[in-house]
Amino acid sequence: MKSKKIGVNTICTHVGEIKDEQFKGAISPLYMSSSYAYENVDIKRYPRYFNTPNQEALGKKIAALEHCEAGMIFGSGMAAVSTALLAFLQSGDHVVVQKTIYGGAYNFMVEEFPKYNIEFDFTDGFSEADFASKIKPNTKVIYVETPSNPLMLITDLEMISKLAKKHQLVSMIDNTFASPINQNPADFGIDIIIHSATKYMGGHSDICAGTVAASKEHMDKIWNLGKNLGGSLSDYTVWLLERSIKTMGIRVKAQNRNAKKMAKWLDEHPLVSKVYYPGLKSHPDYKIARRQMYGFTGMLSFELVPSINPQAFMEKLLMIKQSMSLAGVESTILSPSKTSHALLSAEERKRQGIAEGLLRFSVGIEDKHDLIADLEQAFEAVAKKQIQKV
Ligand SMILES: *Cc1c(COP(=O)(O)O)cnc(C)c1O
Repeated sequence: MKSKKIGVNTICTHVGEIKDEQFKGAISPLYMSSSYAYENVDIKRYPRYFNTPNQEALGKKIAALEHCEAGMIFGSGMAAVSTALLAFLQSGDHVVVQKTIYGGAYNFMVEEFPKYNIEFDFTDGFSEADFASKIKPNTKVIYVETPSNPLMLITDLEMISKLAKKHQLVSMIDNTFASPINQNPADFGIDIIIHSATKYMGGHSDICAGTVAASKEHMDKIWNLGKNLGGSLSDYTVWLLERSIKTMGIRVKAQNRNAKKMAKWLDEHPLVSKVYYPGLKSHPDYKIARRQMYGFTGMLSFELVPSINPQAFMEKLLMIKQSMSLAGVESTILSPSKTSHALLSAEERKRQGIAEGLLRFSVGIEDKHDLIADLEQAFEAVAKKQIQKV
């Protein structure tokens, strides 16, 4: 083969795989051993050291997918987030955090950082000035998440990495919503790339896991803390995750296509007042999204007109399920104001632009005409009820 760059679907299918020398099986064997003979003082394999054969194999795939030198697998997305953050922070340090981030990461910072005397500030917005104005002499880390949940706002990755380099900060991103298929933050100079593999990497709503990709130098620090905190993943689940990632490229591209169709269809629907999807020209961050994303993800949000009860609408859906999580091959929907953002006050939700009628739609791989048929019959059912009331 000519030395052309290896394609993303080939990375998904093959990179890191363990050759089955004994039986010549087609896939990586699963090694469930928690105990290994030590080869020398440097190589001691142990699940909590993140270096069993399956953990190492999948780590290579994650690194390749995110264009980084090293990859590590964790027991959950939050194990990855918390270990990565604490690896670069100590008492007296400060973190600049993007305004809207995943609720679990928000809770981790708000509830745990004060115990370690780690300071943090949330930005007021997504611009360079919003981030720069929060940097202090003791700032060590800049933490972003793009696209954001649930409004799919986009943070400019090149801007963040330049700002971080100028102030010698470690830049970290939660890349879960994009998946490595749609966005490779390392290409823009971001240092640490985190995923909740529970979402697009797992993709079938049956695995809880997390990943980190970074340079070898940064990963050494994360590994060092990781082995002390102990947030590793069982090899059985590591192996299942390797299996899932093989189809991630084709799954996510199908979800991108479906979501774009749904966004356009919903945008024209009379009972929908607003659609938030970075692949729509009307999205305020469309241009930045075009610049830094290969695809616009399977995630979108839409607002129902005030006369429609969002709960009633969701209950009328026959195929699209109500679900807390996201990014599975099956389409799911939730009301952020009743779930992920329920703990915020009504005022704070309003400030963040999260209307009571906002629904977050995780678009799956079903045929688009079936998805549209389900949405259409639910709209018809709630609209009819409304007419009956009058
Ligand atoms: C789900 C999620 C997490 C946390 O992952 P877990 O696997 O649930 O620990 C972090 N960030 C984002 C954006 C998520 O959606």
